Amino acid sequence: ELRTPLAALQALVETLQVGALDEPPAARHFLHRADQEVDALSQMVEQLLERTLIESGKVPLRLSETPAADVVRPAVERLRPQSDRRHLELLIELADDLPPVLSDASRAQQVVGNLLHNAIKFTPDGGTITIRARLRNDGAHVVFSVQDTGFGIPAAELPRIFERFYKGDRARSSGGTGLGLAISRHLVEAHGGEIWAKSKEGKGSTFYFTLPVAASGE
Ligand code: ADP
Repeated sequence: ELRTPLAALQALVETLQVGALDEPPAARHFLHRADQEVDALSQMVEQLLERTLIESGKVPLRLSETPAADVVRPAVERLRPQSDRRHLELLIELADDLPPVLSDASRAQQVVGNLLHNAIKFTPDGGTITIRARLRNDGAHVVFSVQDTGFGIPAAELPRIFERFYKGDRARSSGGTGLGLAISRHLVEAHGGEIWAKSKEGKGSTFYFTLPVAASGE
């Protein structure tokens, strides 16, 4: 994954060196392409670093009492422009009287952001994405879910999607590192929660994760 953008950059620089630099319109085009490759590389390196830091325990969670809506809404608003561009409907359904959770809000939002980003990526134009939160039957956890009407995940791939660097067949040619779900799982488990997915090929996918309810005063 890292080699692909690197090789592209190398080819672009060589093309500029052997003459394209003297043809301004072509040079601009190659520079623009180089810029895109640098963006792709940066994103991968950032995710790799992030994953390494989280795994080595160097990202301490700053837990505090967080309203469930504060886990969901900022992440949704951040990704809404991307979803609008694809003409997807983005719905939020929060159960009434949800208790606050004990979380590092920015990390919990990151999980919602990762799941939402995937839902947008793997849902064809015009689909619907629904983000829900409800109290689990045990009364001790809030269950968050992100449901899409997208391509779904083949049953054979489903057990592997949370592995690091795993990318499904459909995702293989697209950008992305296969780290998003691995990072999400780590963050959720560091909170004492669980993460899982259900999916039917051709019908869509639903990703779930739980966060513990904050005991009052926590
Ligand atoms: P990436 O998105 O960078 O490929 P992730 O770790 O986020 O990596 O996801 C791993 C794989 O899980 C994806 O490559 C894709 O095959 C599958 N996947 C994740 N979310 C969805 C979704 N909402 N719909 C369909 N497939 C999904």
